[in-house]
Amino acid sequence: MPPLAVLCHHGPVPVTFLAHQAPVLPMKRRWPGLDGVALVAGSMVPDLAVTTLRTTPRYLAGVPLWWEGHTLADQWNWCLPVGLVLTLLLRRLVLPALAPYLPDAGGFHLQDLRHVGRVRYRWWVIVGSLLIGSVSHVVIDGFTHPTGWAVGVVPGLDRGVASVLQVVASVALSIVALWQMWLIGRDRSICVWNGVEPTPPVRPVAETAVRAVAVLLTLAAAAWASTQTERCSTIVVMTWFALSLVGAVVLAVAVRVGSGVAGRSPARPFRPVRPTRRCVPGARSG
Ligand SMILES: [Zn+2]
Repeated sequence: MPPLAVLCHHGPVPVTFLAHQAPVLPMKRRWPGLDGVALVAGSMVPDLAVTTLRTTPRYLAGVPLWWEGHTLADQWNWCLPVGLVLTLLLRRLVLPALAPYLPDAGGFHLQDLRHVGRVRYRWWVIVGSLLIGSVSHVVIDGFTHPTGWAVGVVPGLDRGVASVLQVVASVALSIVALWQMWLIGRDRSICVWNGVEPTPPVRPVAETAVRAVAVLLTLAAAAWASTQTERCSTIVVMTWFALSLVGAVVLAVAVRVGSGVAGRSPARPFRPVRPTRRCVPGARSG
């Protein structure tokens, strides 16, 4: 039987967002043919399974209603199906609709994320990228959780060392992920990968209203998640994260309906544009 409550003892650390993206972002930069959205979704999705722990009821007709998310079997049972849905929603709906409402954040050029829906990858590239992301998550967790699979297997790695690595990895990997995000923004790589010329930040319609609703939805998600404290604090955090994703989907639908779907560029197979000096502001001449 999978360890039902194991995650509740140490939390989703290294942190689900930022730290776990540290290994996959350089992969996308090195091999742009990989599906970046699937890589990132895969690197987060094992921890989303925490939201299913300690549910009531726990079984339906003898079938468990929860997933541990970090076992080998759950790479197929949880990470693949949930990750595919997450990838689809992020690429086709959430990022194209909501990224224009993000602050561009200077060199990070976060608004470039609105272009990720312009290309389509072959199914095996999506599945492969997703599993690379989820397996990378499990590998890191194995070394940085006191109950990780590598503890007691790798010489010198005991529960105490893993506890220290838990904190160190959260900080260090988050810094690496931020650095990679800055490199991607600096080079306008998302534009290159999606075949569009970089443009200045946009001012979307109803900018203030949409941002205000996003904040309210996030606060509502936090309020609902706080009702789950009797399950455990880790479940509260991941429930907040998952409900915020649901809120983002709802808001993206509203924005899409409000602005109309006409005028969107048709999707095309993955074929990065040739990087030019105009596309790559950070490139050196000569
Ligand atoms: Zn994890």
